[in-house]
Amino acid sequence: MKKIVTEFLDIVKERNNNEPEFLQAVEEVAETVIPYIIKHNIYYGKNVLLRMVEPERAVTFRVCWVDDSGEIQVNRGYRIQMNSAIGPYKGGLRFHPTVNMSILKFLAFEQVFKNSLTTLPMGGGKGGSDFNPKGKSDNEIMRFCHAFMSELFRHIGPNTDIPAGDIGVGQREIGFLFGMYRKLRNEFTGVLTGKGMTWGGSLIRPEATGYGTVYFAENMLKTNSNSFMGKNVVISGSGNVAQYAAEKSIQLGAKVLTLSDSSGYIFDENGIDEDKLKFVMQLKNEKRGRISEYINEYPNAKYIKGKTPWSEKCDIALPCATQNELNGDDAEALLANGCICVSEGANMPSTKEAIEKFHKAKILFAPGKASNAGGVATSGLEMTQNSLRYKWTREEVDNKLREIMEEIHESCIKYGKDDNGYIDYVKGANIAGFVKVADAMLAQGVV
Ligand code: NDP
Repeated sequence: MKKIVTEFLDIVKERNNNEPEFLQAVEEVAETVIPYIIKHNIYYGKNVLLRMVEPERAVTFRVCWVDDSGEIQVNRGYRIQMNSAIGPYKGGLRFHPTVNMSILKFLAFEQVFKNSLTTLPMGGGKGGSDFNPKGKSDNEIMRFCHAFMSELFRHIGPNTDIPAGDIGVGQREIGFLFGMYRKLRNEFTGVLTGKGMTWGGSLIRPEATGYGTVYFAENMLKTNSNSFMGKNVVISGSGNVAQYAAEKSIQLGAKVLTLSDSSGYIFDENGIDEDKLKFVMQLKNEKRGRISEYINEYPNAKYIKGKTPWSEKCDIALPCATQNELNGDDAEALLANGCICVSEGANMPSTKEAIEKFHKAKILFAPGKASNAGGVATSGLEMTQNSLRYKWTREEVDNKLREIMEEIHESCIKYGKDDNGYIDYVKGANIAGFVKVADAMLAQGVV
């Protein structure tokens, strides 16, 4: 079995040699899905996984825009349309200086499995730019977004490809992108999700990824007759996903001890309560400040510069910042401090070594493609509301989100429970995500 996996990975490596993040994501899937393919005749010998690791289409384009001092800036734009066997491409746009083909292909590949898990008819894609929004004025952001969409609009559409937000792309950016799309196409459609509430957005979409990550963890804890009540929670990041993961953890009776950004983390031993979180939301979303400013407002808290929060004692860890932010040493520190549950809000935040340690210790561990799927699931609900030209209440959307997270959890158990009862959520999510897409691909023939 190991030989077949290695041979497969060698082919993928040869073709994508300079793409470490993409290879990391493929390896994790191959190790769990290939043994399943070998045991199931309908998938065997049809190169389904080999077809799935090749994007159906990858577009790169030049984005030229003028900054506030009149200088012409040039960035690179991308859209990876990975797989549309079960529905139109769907996945976020990331604006961050680290964005490249490897990162977007890993995200697009993960998105195919994630979207399949949501139970909704969505294919997988991802895109973005190496544009750095940090320190840019609102006008610069607008000019960049308009320039980016003036090319992207040719490749997307409400029945073709529906982008959303990701790192560096929130409601402000979605607004500017939507405005240019609407002007160029002369039509008002649900071509982007994460829209504002007065122009086609869905209630709960801003909260969905963070809430979903906590709902998934809640489902995992239930399998051990446990809950969030009274637990200490350590969270990384302080953006969209981290903020709402913190909010839901607090609502469920847990104490949130940390939040972070790429410069360091804050530790508040009294807990970040609802009022303190409101301060963080204003700081990050309106003033676009740094998490270090938390201690100016709450001097009893500590700011630890240049470090991640994984050495703090906790019961539950929610990595909600970025890929590979939690390594093998961090996993060891978490385990030594008694952590019993890790639910990934970010995409692929735990390295391979970290996941191996969590599995060896048999704690509850959920990979992002299952636990953070609430964001794209609610984007799917936004698309449905746009098609119906209708708006569901907050409660209706939240209930649907809860149900979807429960169903994803069930799918992971179906394919991931081993003989002695341990649930390998990585295996479960990969196989459950694979089966639906593979069945659709086989039914549609070699295209
Ligand atoms: P935001 O841009 O709102 O926030 C990102 C946060 O992560 C910021 O606090 C940022 O800090 C921090 N961060 C970014 N890069 C690094 C780094 N290299 N090291 C440490 N911290 C870093 O993004 P989101 O909250 O939307 O996304 C966070 C994660 O969740 C990503 O992995 C994304 O792919 C994933 N995700 C998001 C979904 C969504 O609906 N938004 C859906 C599913 C997954 P700083 O300000 O210093 O950069």
